[in-house]
Amino acid sequence: MSMEIPYKIYLEEKEMPSQWYNVRADMTNKPAPLLNPGTMQPITLDELKPVFCEALARQELDDTTPYIDIPEEIRSFYKMYRPSPLTRAYCLEKALDTPAHIYYKFEGNNTSGSHKLNSAIAQAYYAKQEGLKGVTTETGAGQWGTALSMACSYFDLDCQVYMVKVSYEQKPFRREVMRTYGAKVTPSPSMDTNVGRKINQEFPGTTGSLGCAISEAVEAATSQDGYRYVLGSVLSQVLLHQSIIGLETKTALDKYGIKADMIIGCAGGGSNLGGLISPFAGEMLRGEADYQIIAVEPASCPSLTRGSYRYDFCDTGKVCPLAKMYTLGSGFIPSANHAGGLRYHGMSSVVSQLYEDGYLEARSVGQTEVFQAAQQFARVEGILPAPESSHAIRVAINEALKCKETGEAKNIVFGLTGTGYFDMVAYQKFNDGDMSDYIPTDAEIEASLAKLPTV
Ligand SMILES: *Cc1c(COP(=O)(O)O)cnc(C)c1O
Repeated sequence: MSMEIPYKIYLEEKEMPSQWYNVRADMTNKPAPLLNPGTMQPITLDELKPVFCEALARQELDDTTPYIDIPEEIRSFYKMYRPSPLTRAYCLEKALDTPAHIYYKFEGNNTSGSHKLNSAIAQAYYAKQEGLKGVTTETGAGQWGTALSMACSYFDLDCQVYMVKVSYEQKPFRREVMRTYGAKVTPSPSMDTNVGRKINQEFPGTTGSLGCAISEAVEAATSQDGYRYVLGSVLSQVLLHQSIIGLETKTALDKYGIKADMIIGCAGGGSNLGGLISPFAGEMLRGEADYQIIAVEPASCPSLTRGSYRYDFCDTGKVCPLAKMYTLGSGFIPSANHAGGLRYHGMSSVVSQLYEDGYLEARSVGQTEVFQAAQQFARVEGILPAPESSHAIRVAINEALKCKETGEAKNIVFGLTGTGYFDMVAYQKFNDGDMSDYIPTDAEIEASLAKLPTV
């Protein structure tokens, strides 16, 4: 007997996960430890405490506890916008004339517009628990800053966001959402921090970079009493919080007896991908099931497909701990023509180790084909996807078309991380035919990798 699968598979509140799943616990080869940039030795809890909240520092270092309780207050916040639906893409399947069954988990149903709120609320909760006054962070395009400002306003915490100056000027609407939620948004480099003043003096008129904004946010956290720094991706604690995506997905699939064949996610710093795949990768690690897992990254910032698995700095300012990860070098800056997000130079150390050990594969795609997939998806499924999410759509469509050739009815699941409402400048470029595909040369990547620290 086969059950009719609805367009949307919803979970009831009582079916929502009460614990996050820490995939590191089931990994035989653990991700390499973070290193203290001063000593180049594995970083300790005490060394992390001045920068991160203690509970989060503990989660960062914990690679043995498989399940960690989600505190009640976070669960009740999750209930305002979760569970997110798992949608059967019947309309896309029809348009592609494929025998494949396509499912997507949509994380854009909240004001911040992406999955980032899942970790922002957890990080704000622990900051509040520890009696802090506030947190500082950086934001590029603004999704993380928006999510964090929502989370901080819920817990009545001060939120200071250093926003890359070029985005501050070009994305005024993101900035206003953050201010509406009470965040203080400062264009970076600013004149408020030593590092900002120094950069402004050295490079008058600079429009800033993520690396510079990170350095300013860290300085702001460590120079104000009662403040800590928080980060929206890459870190293992963020992957842990994002496991809510994968746990809900798995529960929804199990409800209808659906076994995924393929799980696809876009990869910037690796947090949504890592969260989506965690429970599935856990089954693979324990030898219980097998899945084809695909990480999709932009051809203009190809850390998994063309980077090197080495220790590197997480930020351009080299103030954060070093992580062993697939990286293009902390000085790597993707082409200015690249409009599709996912611009981070490195990859989560958990995702990197799983990739190194063959649990997942990686593909890189060009931005024009990504926007073609975004347009096709928007027209048949109705949702205007974020450019980042559209990397996953591209590969899901490619795989569904392969199924058409072979006649296989594979179950393809992909993560749709957010909406594209704030990315209309990128869509405009695509619609005007002004989009170009820049792929870095081997020489450029080698030059950047040559500057990696020796550890
Ligand atoms: C930030 C972001 C991403 C990429 O970040 P990861 O840490 O790789 O998940 C993907 N999609 C959207 C919509 C984002 O905002």
